[in-house]
Amino acid sequence: MSNAPGTPALIALQQVTKTYGQGATALQALKGVDLRIAAGDFVAIMGPSGSGKSTAMNMLGCLDTPTTGEYLFQGVHVETLSRDQRARLRRNFLGFVFQGFNLLARTSAQENVELPLLYRGESAKARHAAAARALAQVGLAGWEHHTPAELSGGQQQRVAIARAIVTEPAVLLADEPTGNLDTQRSHEIMDLLWALNVDHGITVLMVTHEADMAAYAKRIVRFVDGVVASDVPNPHPAGRQTPAEVMPAEAA
Ligand code: ADP
Repeated sequence: MSNAPGTPALIALQQVTKTYGQGATALQALKGVDLRIAAGDFVAIMGPSGSGKSTAMNMLGCLDTPTTGEYLFQGVHVETLSRDQRARLRRNFLGFVFQGFNLLARTSAQENVELPLLYRGESAKARHAAAARALAQVGLAGWEHHTPAELSGGQQQRVAIARAIVTEPAVLLADEPTGNLDTQRSHEIMDLLWALNVDHGITVLMVTHEADMAAYAKRIVRFVDGVVASDVPNPHPAGRQTPAEVMPAEAA
């Protein structure tokens, strides 16, 4: 993958700082963050409240820019882009999933999922087909015409995930995606994120407070006090086994 020397990482934060406010009330939320993420990675971002996770996710999601330092996305310097250019980058390359699902009420699953394509100006026919495909991909074929109120929390999060992947993003940013769900639904959502990563190659960046959910990631990055305090591979990610694990090389 693109971790080879000389190959640009999909994402690289270089000495990124973020300061909120000015003068005596200034608060430095990020104090020099270095982070390289290869295409296909699945990163769990952990750390205590106030450690800078949300600030880093806003940065990675191109919703905010560093005070100092660099953010490269596929070699493009995000910190030099205009607001419009960042919005275009978000629309074309990033998908977002939130703790609270953030679906439009009184709007069908199908219409919620079509929304990002509407913003892109795609035809009704293309929108319908892509949304139906994305809903099937998250296991909600047949639920297209239900509104959020008619769906369980787990199903609502599936609709939100379908909305995030309908544009075929390179990266899925998930901010505590299981924070509002019970244990069983949480594991179902993690199995889904795992499949999107392993089967579909979507890079996943997920903030979580729960070790059981971080266990699905390939890598665990821990923030403490505005810096990356540890960054370790997870040698045995939870989730379905890959073909290579089921059929070891010697048995092939
Ligand atoms: P986490 O997501 O790990 O809880 P945050 O990134 O939200 O951490 O916050 C890091 C620090 O920055 C905290 O001290 C928080 O109070 C501060 N902070 C976050 N957002 C703002 C803001 N918009 N204005 C001022 N301070 C902020």
